[in-house]
Amino acid sequence: MAPPSSGVVPPPSPTLSASQLATLRGLGEERTAGTGEVLYHVGDRDYPFIAIVDGEVAILDSAGNEIVRHGPSGFLGELNLLSGQTVFVTAIVTEPLRYVAVDRGVLRSLLYEDGPLSDVVLSAFIARREALQRVQGLGLEIVGPHSSSATMQMLDFARSNLVRLPGGSELQGPSAGQVSRALGIGRELAPREEVDLLVVGAGPAGLGAAVYGASEGLNTLVIDGTGLGGQAGTSRRIENYLGFPAGISGTELTSRAVTQARKFNARLATPYRAVSLERGNGRHVVQLEDDHEIAARAVLIATGAQYRRLPVDELDQYEGISVFYAAGPPEAQLCGAERVAVVGGGNSAGQAAVWLARGGALVTLLHRRTDLRETMSDYLIRELERYGVAVRDHSEIAALHGMDGHLEAVTLKHGERLRFSFLFLFLGALPCTEWLDDTVERDENGFILTGSDANADKLLETSVPGILAAGDVRSGSTKRCATAVGEGAWAVQLVHAHLAAS
Ligand SMILES: Cc1cc2nc3c(=O)[nH]c(=O)nc-3n(C[C@H](O)[C@H](O)[C@H](O)COP(=O)(O)OP(=O)(O)OC[C@H]3O[C@@H](n4cnc5c(N)ncnc54)[C@H](O)[C@@H]3O)c2cc1C
Repeated sequence: MAPPSSGVVPPPSPTLSASQLATLRGLGEERTAGTGEVLYHVGDRDYPFIAIVDGEVAILDSAGNEIVRHGPSGFLGELNLLSGQTVFVTAIVTEPLRYVAVDRGVLRSLLYEDGPLSDVVLSAFIARREALQRVQGLGLEIVGPHSSSATMQMLDFARSNLVRLPGGSELQGPSAGQVSRALGIGRELAPREEVDLLVVGAGPAGLGAAVYGASEGLNTLVIDGTGLGGQAGTSRRIENYLGFPAGISGTELTSRAVTQARKFNARLATPYRAVSLERGNGRHVVQLEDDHEIAARAVLIATGAQYRRLPVDELDQYEGISVFYAAGPPEAQLCGAERVAVVGGGNSAGQAAVWLARGGALVTLLHRRTDLRETMSDYLIRELERYGVAVRDHSEIAALHGMDGHLEAVTLKHGERLRFSFLFLFLGALPCTEWLDDTVERDENGFILTGSDANADKLLETSVPGILAAGDVRSGSTKRCATAVGEGAWAVQLVHAHLAAS
């Protein structure tokens, strides 16, 4: 067997038992293919699940480099088999092949019913996606200068969707929605849809509701204005999520949650932004941008919150070029050996500062209080010390200085001028509720009132029966991943009770 030439370290290839192969044979079609035959190709819109009876198949990246080979009792496929995304590897027969091809929809139902098979297949799909995501040049390429805010916005969009997909066709000046649907990521919605449960927002709360809603028999649709994963999806490492003692990246947590939701047949549609909510009798109606509307027997608002901006002039000219709200691999690469300020005193600021310092940036953390320990966890403060991050107390930015979006320095409120090339802002969040007008009651900061604060019986119910809120968007919620997931799951119970009573 030839060693992989792509640079990808393939995960171990699990095999199917004889009884699992027999089950698949009963549901699929047995076929043969000769050496050199291509089973599917980079850019194809779909492909079946392939279980190998005899023979061998090589998986190649778009440049033709070999990633891995699968032999008897092995199986082909990756997460895109469930998500319906465009195929981004090629499968070519290397030894005469006898195989069982199972249609995607049939596989999905089988995974739902057959726990042991589901374990083998889904864990392999996730491991394969994670291995592929480490490969440079595999998937979508965004071509444009680092100095262009349009390039950086598209990068943000692509990253928030967690995917690297093949190029091939060119899209000029596309919207996020066009890119998404051209790549087969975004589910195309009908102009009007009717569902049991509409979840608005696909962060941890929305994905939690998707898994429980769909697995408990509700016709569940989740929409999101950007991508899947919400704020948590941008987190480098979530250290306090139950069951992951070594921490888990936001990308991985989202990838696992989305796989689980899709397994239960929840529909996830992005990017579709909700622009209004109209209270109805029996069904509430949510209008989406691009003239789509969803009529739902119950609506869960899980739109979370967005970062606060700095109250300084001309901030927008720097945003996306030298001022950022998330620190990921592209920014770390951009900031190597540069002077960087991270602004904020919370854990998100601490995590970003450590990440950037580890990438070689000269990082200063600016915060306005007297002592960082008032707002940041001790373990992160120790990490700041370990990676040489300078911490400045009582520091608030009053002005930015630079040219054409490229930052050169900042002036602090007490007049001191400091040289920085990049700023990362972690200043807390505002709720994403502007689209709701006064349909549901909100607190003075715009967060949605629920439970007794909204004259409702149950903690997650808003002032309107059949409309619930979960996660960061809810007034008084604990702004944490696990809480958001728990509230999303709990909301489904309340939806069942509402539907039974109506
Ligand atoms: C960098 C960072 C690190 C973090 N680290 C941790 C951690 O280590 N541990 C921890 O417990 N928590 C952490 N958090 C907090 C945690 O991520 C949040 O509490 C959690 O994501 C909240 O989930 P949510 O589903 O309520 O909302 P969000 O995650 O905010 O998701 C809301 C979703 O709704 C969408 N949306 C908004 N408006 C609309 C609209 N009009 N139409 C359609 N969609 C819309 C958004 O695009 C978004 O995807 C971190 C947060 C950040 C930003």
